[in-house]
Amino acid sequence: MTEANFPLPVLEGHSADFYGYCKQGELRFQRCTDCQAWRHVPRELCAECGSWSWEWARSSGKGEVFTFTVVGRALHPAFAEAVPYAATVVELEEGVRLLSKVTDVPPDELEIGMKVEVDFEVASDEISLPVFRRASASSD
Ligand SMILES: [Zn+2]
Repeated sequence: MTEANFPLPVLEGHSADFYGYCKQGELRFQRCTDCQAWRHVPRELCAECGSWSWEWARSSGKGEVFTFTVVGRALHPAFAEAVPYAATVVELEEGVRLLSKVTDVPPDELEIGMKVEVDFEVASDEISLPVFRRASASSD
């Protein structure tokens, strides 16, 4: 196991729940139990119907590159060796978007609309980060 040298999420509240599922290898988002709308980042109230009722529902982990930007100059010393890298927003099949990265595609080969699927990168004993890799051809 490698201990990440970059800043990690603080585990509290809904964030602790979200990363707790990631640690188990499950990508879960909040889903309204009244109107079934998915949402991320976590919040108490459904933006679609105003309901306070929700559950942690499991995502298929499949989606596509919604947008990305290639970072050429690290804005934090811990990322100095990672540049250039593509900060990537993935839109999951459920409609929610997650800021992440695609680990097996170099920034200059990344394309909007590229099919990807979730993977988990062990960052510490407590935290596994949801990342993405190019979807296998047979997964559609
Ligand atoms: Zn709702």
